[in-house]
Order: sequence, then structure tokens, then C-alpha cells
Amino acid sequence: MEKVILLRFGEIFLKGDNRGFFENMLFTNVQKAIKEFDCKLKKIAGRYAVENYNEQDEQAIIQKLTKVFGLYSLSVARKVKTDIDEIVNLCAKLELTQKTFKVEVRRADKRFPIKSTEFAAICGEKILMTNKNIKVDVHNPETIVNIDIREDGWTYMFSDIILCAGGMPVGTSGKGLLLLSGGIDSPVAGYFMGKRGMSVECLHFHSFPYTSEQAKDKVIRLAKQMQNYIPHLKLHILSFTKVQEEINRNCDRDYMIILMRRIMMRVAEKLCKKIGAGAILTGESLGQVASQTLESITATNSVVTLPVFRPLVGFDKLETIDIAKKIGTYEISIEPYEDCCTVFLPKRPVTKPKIENVLEQEAKLNIDKLVQDCLESEEVVLI
Ligand code: ATP
Ligand code: MG
Repeated sequence: MEKVILLRFGEIFLKGDNRGFFENMLFTNVQKAIKEFDCKLKKIAGRYAVENYNEQDEQAIIQKLTKVFGLYSLSVARKVKTDIDEIVNLCAKLELTQKTFKVEVRRADKRFPIKSTEFAAICGEKILMTNKNIKVDVHNPETIVNIDIREDGWTYMFSDIILCAGGMPVGTSGKGLLLLSGGIDSPVAGYFMGKRGMSVECLHFHSFPYTSEQAKDKVIRLAKQMQNYIPHLKLHILSFTKVQEEINRNCDRDYMIILMRRIMMRVAEKLCKKIGAGAILTGESLGQVASQTLESITATNSVVTLPVFRPLVGFDKLETIDIAKKIGTYEISIEPYEDCCTVFLPKRPVTKPKIENVLEQEAKLNIDKLVQDCLESEEVVLI
């Protein structure tokens, strides 16, 4: 008898012609997630199994696996050769702590000579002999002993089913460039796009010396945390100092935020072209702050042609915070370092910008040069 971890993926995306593509990507991502452990990942009919791992690594491996998008659930299972005596012996050794149970047999291997319900009864009886304080309850059992008799000559026995991250394997839905601030929202936005299968690279604007080295370090740690879910995360850090100084020197300060955001978008689109990303991703949520009114979003959106995905657009802040806590970015996000958007903050930011007024302000800037200079300040951090 050997312990293995069975991995299940939803069947939704495994139908049709793309099945091989999705499955290979998922297999690769799972392999990467557990590469630090001494173990073997195998394909078995419609599932994967992690085998030959050290018992003391089991919890750590499970922790990693629950964060791989595309996996739906997993179970620690006992694996034996498909042989009546071996399976029954294993049942006899099973120690259950619950008060009620039932056995469910799935017989994918039709060569197995005993019918599923009949065999479940045989196994159940064995379990009752070992566990004196437990009863069978077929309607509402506290635990189910699943016995999966697979086509490949092996049988897997398991009880607990642990839910994983779900979604689609990262790398199956193109690449997006996430505008990553140090705040709570943008890491969560990246998480959701990763969940839909997007590869993500991040772009952060800092305003050194107005913002500190710690503020930058915080963003690097945020990106590291996101990498638990999104493999190969790359972080591009650009200097926004000159842009802000130029706006501050030349323009009506009440337009600061909208002008900044329009330049951020232009820079992001250029960087997308360079890295082969097909979408810009942001953590905006409708109505949350002055720059996220419909009018402001329209004004920032109009400078780019690539699609801009805002997965949090309909989220309440508290809903976002819940997810941020779950994925481990919240504690980092609330560290009190300044963001570039808090530098040169206007007293009365325009919340419903009129496009002709915005253009009038932009006419006072050399936008192309600012965008170019900003791109040239690039520093790439491989997480
Ligand atoms: P967050 O919590 O993600 O900072 P927010 O609610 O504070 O969002 P804003 O500050 O208006 O909202 O920023 C909106 C979005 O713009 C952010 O979610 C992020 O995608 C992007 N953004 C803001 N500041 C930066 C920055 N310094 N670098 C990169 N992207 C940024
Ligand atoms: Mg912010």
C-alpha cells in the first residue's frame, strides 16, 4: 500500500479539441508548483497523482497544490493493486474516528468481477469489524470511504476531498499586464485574471525620491506573494517622477490624477506591445474613488485601444479584502508606505472630467516624450 495525492480537474475545459493543450499546461504548472519536493507527478486516466513523496512533505505539497489554477480538488488516497484480497485487507486496517460512514465503490474497470454495490457491502463489513464504535449510514454519513477501481489496474481509497483554486490553467488565456500599485485591489485583480488562465506580468510606477525604497520593496513582496498562484510573474518597475513633476509644474493640479492615469495607460499599452501582452489589467472598482467614476474611467480608457480588464469593477471593498486575506496579500498591502498617486495630491480632484478640459491640460505637456522617458527608466525584477 502506498499513499498518493489524487488531483482532479474540472471537466468543463477538457472537452473538445483543446483538451490536450489545457491538460499539458496544467500538468506543467502542477509540476512547477511542487518542483522543490522529492516526488513524482503521474497522469492517470482523467486525473493526476503525486506519488513517491516523503510523508513529512505531505501538508506542504497540499498547500502548494491548492493554489494551482485549473485543479478543482484533491484527496490523499491509499493505492493498492486491483485485487479483491488486497482491497479488503486495506479496509480491515482502516481506522475511522467518525460515528457513521458508508462505502462508495466506483468500478471504472469493468473486468473487476464483483458489482459495485455488492463489493461496497463486503468492504463495509470489514471496516465494521475493525471499528467497533462506528455505524453504517447510507443517507447521511459523517464520512464516505471511496473506493475507485481504475482502468489501469490500480485501486485508490480516500475519504476527504480538499477543494483547490479552480479556474483555468495559467497560460491558456494569453498574457495581461497588471498595473500593480501597493494597494489592496490590484493584487486581487491579478489573482482573478490568473484564475481565468491569463499569464500576468506586472507594472509598477514609483516616484522616487517622493516615494521610498520601502514602498518599492513592498510591491516586490506583493508580486512574490501573487506568484503562489501565478507562475513566472515578472515585475516591471518604471519611474513616474518626471511625469508627476511635469504635470505639477504645467497643469491645473485638480487634473493631476486623471492626467497621471492617462499617461500610465499609454505607457502600459506600449509595454504590452513590447512584452506581447494583449490586455491591460487594473484593480479599479466602479465609484470607489474620484478616479473611478464612469466619467474618469471613460477618460482613462480612451487613450488606449487594447482591452482593459477590471475584474473588480463590481466588487465592494470588503469583498476584495476577503480575497486579499485569502491569497495572503492583505497584510502586505496595508503596510503604510506611500504610493505615487498620493504624491502631489490635489485638494479638489476632478471627478467628472470633461474630455475637452483634459485635452487642454495635456496640450501643456510633451506627452510622447514623457511616455518614452518613462519606458526608458525600466527596471525588471524577476520574482
Ligand atoms: P489599489 O488598491 O490597487 O491601489 P485603489 O483603490 O487604491 O487601487 P487607485 O489608486 O485609483 O485605486 O488605482 C487604481 C488602479 O490603478 C490600481 O488598482 C492599479 O491597477 C493602478 N495603479 C494605481 N497606482 C499605481 C502604481 N503606482 N503603479 C501601477 N499601477 C497603479
Ligand atoms: Mg491605490
